[in-house]
Amino acid sequence: MYVKTLTMKGFKSFASATSFKLEPGITCVVGPNGSGKSNVVDALAWVMGEQGAKTLRGGKMEDVIFAGTAGRPPLGRAEVSLTIDNTDGALPIDYTEVTIRRTMFRNGGSEYAINGTPCRLLDVQELLSDSGIGREMHVIVGQGQLDTILRATPEERRGFIEEAAGVLKHRKRKERALRKLDQMEGNLTRVQDLTGEIR
Ligand code: ATP
Repeated sequence: MYVKTLTMKGFKSFASATSFKLEPGITCVVGPNGSGKSNVVDALAWVMGEQGAKTLRGGKMEDVIFAGTAGRPPLGRAEVSLTIDNTDGALPIDYTEVTIRRTMFRNGGSEYAINGTPCRLLDVQELLSDSGIGREMHVIVGQGQLDTILRATPEERRGFIEEAAGVLKHRKRKERALRKLDQMEGNLTRVQDLTGEIR
């Protein structure tokens, strides 16, 4: 599994459609200060479902949409597509190539699609978490974050390992199931109360 293509359009400084075609192995992006190197990494995190505006170095999520320059007006939407080579089947989906797309409109809301089929954020997160790329994005180590990882407590370190091993997905599923069970018990109590009153 490796990242084949990353395409950005209207994302941060990339107003026009810009594609990076990558090969297996190490890729380096070089450029002058402020030329958009970190924006490429932000696009990678964003398309994989990142929800924190701060993680993307903005104040609010809308800040990922091209805000305009002296010579170019702002855009109304940002779109990023990530194509992953899946010939080794690392992603649990029957395709040798998987394209995840995320779109955001200035008037709010994000849309996700996997191989062109609209889906939920949860579907993207679950697809990626089996491969060790998860919700917490420990695969992306930003400037200054190395320190945080080195200084992590044993509990935090365990969290990183669980995320990489794909355990976190099951923990989240368990939490969701317990919440539903809790709601269901509340409903049951209410039904019992009502039945008691009717009798
Ligand atoms: P450095 O080497 O200093 O870390 P960099 O190459 O990583 O720089 P980035 O931080 O990726 O650069 O890009 C910063 C540029 O992106 C700035 O010029 C900023 O104005 C521009 N930028 C960020 N968000 C937007 C946006 N929403 N619309 C337009 N331009 C944006």
